[in-house]
Amino acid sequence: MAIFECAGCGAALSAPLSQAALPAHAHQHWGNGELLPVLMESGTYAVDPEPSGPPWRRWEEVGDEAAAVRGVFAPVYTLSFGSPGAIAIAPGDVRGTVLIPERCAGYCCGLDGSDGPNLACVQCGLAVATRIDDCSLWQVVWFDPGAVNGLPADAPIGATADWNTQGRPATPPIDPSGGWSVQWAAAAGAALAHLLAVSDGRPVALPDGLMADLFGRPLDALLPSGAPARTVVPAGPGLPVRNPGHRIFLVPRNPRTGEPWQAPGIQRTVPLPFDMWRYLIAPDERLLLPVTGGLPESVMRDDPLPMRPWRLFRPDRRLFLSTLARIPAVRQPWLREIYDRVNDRPFADYF
Ligand SMILES: [Zn+2]
Ligand SMILES: [Zn+2]
Repeated sequence: MAIFECAGCGAALSAPLSQAALPAHAHQHWGNGELLPVLMESGTYAVDPEPSGPPWRRWEEVGDEAAAVRGVFAPVYTLSFGSPGAIAIAPGDVRGTVLIPERCAGYCCGLDGSDGPNLACVQCGLAVATRIDDCSLWQVVWFDPGAVNGLPADAPIGATADWNTQGRPATPPIDPSGGWSVQWAAAAGAALAHLLAVSDGRPVALPDGLMADLFGRPLDALLPSGAPARTVVPAGPGLPVRNPGHRIFLVPRNPRTGEPWQAPGIQRTVPLPFDMWRYLIAPDERLLLPVTGGLPESVMRDDPLPMRPWRLFRPDRRLFLSTLARIPAVRQPWLREIYDRVNDRPFADYF
């Protein structure tokens, strides 16, 4: 558990929080004017290892070499030169802050954080965090890593993190409205970038069903056709790994640390958020609640109706591009050509 405190005066700025993986949709811009829900589950925090927030510098100003040092390997419009390590928490878990009125940029419908930190410690006035709640953005408060203390030094990473993940229900890929889930679009956009990078530019085979729905159309459009060189299959805790030479493994990210699952002998992996990975391997897993009574069998038969989306799935193009730009393999000409093609064509029908 962590309680974040003001680095200026020591005042508590959060409820007690436990670590969670940074959601794939943390920096998603979605739709046109929709209000999105809160990014983080109440009682949790996540750390963004990338630099974020202002100052921003244009790609032309920064140049290939300096961008590569910052972990960006293909042209992006701007790079953040803010601090790495911003801490995301739910706005309701923040304590003892006040808005800084002159930093409240945004206002289509709320704050977008483009002026930098817009929340100050109520006790000493230090700018400590950025609240974001404008439309098309997930609602979140980002603590400035230099302005707060409290991150546990012993947070487990990688193979040492435990995979005991009971309790969190899987996010279904289709919303009750009948549309594809926005979170799945984000996660699949990021996963598609990793999948292309490990394909070596050769056709891959996908199992029928949800995986083909998620990745089939963009892979058909972006990779050459022909006999598949490799097959994509899930692997992870409790799932045996077979034939690693001819396979690409969809693996879960640890729900606490975000580190991808690893096993000896497998190199080609595509990480997915844990709850989505779990849905892919066990779509019918439901949380069973003890109830009494209920509807007769004959009525339950058709209730609820199976969810059917009303259009084809589209991965999030912006998250696909921002993820691919951060994979070193994008410097290979064949992958860079795909990056440029998607970058130059914002309205391709598979995104
Ligand atoms: Zn303070
Ligand atoms: Zn708006």
